[in-house]
Amino acid sequence: MRIAVIGTGYVGMVTATCLAECGNEVVGIDKDGDKIAMLESGRLPIYEPGLLELVERNRREGRLSFTIDLNKGIGPARLVFVAVGTPQGADGAPDLTNLWAVGDALAEHSPGNQIIVVKSTVPVGTNRQLAQRLKQRSSHDLQVASNPEFLKEGVAVDDFMRPDRVVVGVAWSGDRATTQGAEVAEVLRELYSPFLRTERPFLVVSPESAEMTKYVANAMLATKISFINEMANLCERLGADINEVRRGIGHDARIGFQFLFPGAGYGGSCFPKDVNALMAMGRQTGSPVTLLEAVNNVNEAQKHVLFRKIRQHYGHELEDVTMAVWGLAFKPRTDDIREAPALVLLEELLAAGVRLRVHDPEAMANVRKMIGNKVIYCDRPYSALEGADGLAIVTEWQEFRNPDFDVMRRLMRHPVIFDGRNLYEPQTVTCHGFAYYSIGRQMS
Ligand code: NAD
Repeated sequence: MRIAVIGTGYVGMVTATCLAECGNEVVGIDKDGDKIAMLESGRLPIYEPGLLELVERNRREGRLSFTIDLNKGIGPARLVFVAVGTPQGADGAPDLTNLWAVGDALAEHSPGNQIIVVKSTVPVGTNRQLAQRLKQRSSHDLQVASNPEFLKEGVAVDDFMRPDRVVVGVAWSGDRATTQGAEVAEVLRELYSPFLRTERPFLVVSPESAEMTKYVANAMLATKISFINEMANLCERLGADINEVRRGIGHDARIGFQFLFPGAGYGGSCFPKDVNALMAMGRQTGSPVTLLEAVNNVNEAQKHVLFRKIRQHYGHELEDVTMAVWGLAFKPRTDDIREAPALVLLEELLAAGVRLRVHDPEAMANVRKMIGNKVIYCDRPYSALEGADGLAIVTEWQEFRNPDFDVMRRLMRHPVIFDGRNLYEPQTVTCHGFAYYSIGRQMS
């Protein structure tokens, strides 16, 4: 099938590439000329494990190409995926400027007989509005489908290739798809069939339910994180150990282990934005989502947890302190720093006059773009430790999990670790002479 994907960011690139990998002929379209130039020269504007190899192969075999020219890109496509950014606006609701711009361009340029598939996360009702807008502005009969994306950065290729489920919202009337909606669903079912061979479900619902499903999924996951973070803080006060508690509850099949790791708060381009979007929808409809307001507040507070521990340890005078920071991306295996808790920590430490030596395997270029040379960027984890009075760990990259504590101690001026991801056994670290602070466990 011929496919266009508008927006070649994290979602668009993975979508375009994985669809090409299944034999489709895919054109990726973006308004950002630098991104398209990079892609055309064989480089990726983002880091996502496994993606570059797939892009290279599919470009070589002529199934994947890129253009800045929307008109040319969508021309021959039967399906047009929309994966443009929907960032948080000033009032907490998503800013849909990009989506409407794409919608209007499609109304103007579409040759007709196309299905517009919205992958961007958009407020409930948006797909129906888009369908109406296209109807008003185009002489062609363009179908719209909502197809929220559930991939996780860091394992996005695998998530796309082996989704837990595919959710599709199509034109709907009463309690079922309209005839046209059902036809659209069949086209998408066929497209996704290579990814669903292990009996993963393909769920056809109304556009509103599809849009809401994406928000509810992320809100549930964000709630789990804020819940365990709040319990971790309480454990610290009460003399309990959150890791032991986590094991105790995780073995309960009703609870499980996933997303119950305490830390320095969630970040990324999705959870904060999507929780805020639901809060905005709650306000707009007079049905406030008080639980999510608490989830958001807990998360905002949690981003300061490491700085609080650092200040407690050194006292209020931090000007003479040099701090190493491991992990800047909002999570491991990505270079994405949107809403990353590490940025909040850096800002607080810099404001307090702390000198910073930072390391992240992939995200340093993005941090440099944002804050320039206010910190020292170190190519290796150990070089960040040279002369440091302490180490703060914010992101749990695999390579931080089993360091040589003796080497670390030799490099550091003072052996202190503030571990925002509970990577180590307190006893192991203290045996090597470190003072060790972690989340929800007693200081040792
Ligand atoms: P991104 O910022 O990485 O990429 C968006 C791309 O869209 C950019 O390259 C931008 O230049 C392009 N774009 C914007 N307006 C355009 C236009 N008018 N014409 C052509 N290109 C345009 O964003 P992302 O992280 O890929 O997210 C995209 C959407 O998917 C968002 O709605 C997001 O909430 C949702 N989502 C993201 C993830 C994730 O993990 N990143 C997961 C699921 C869903």
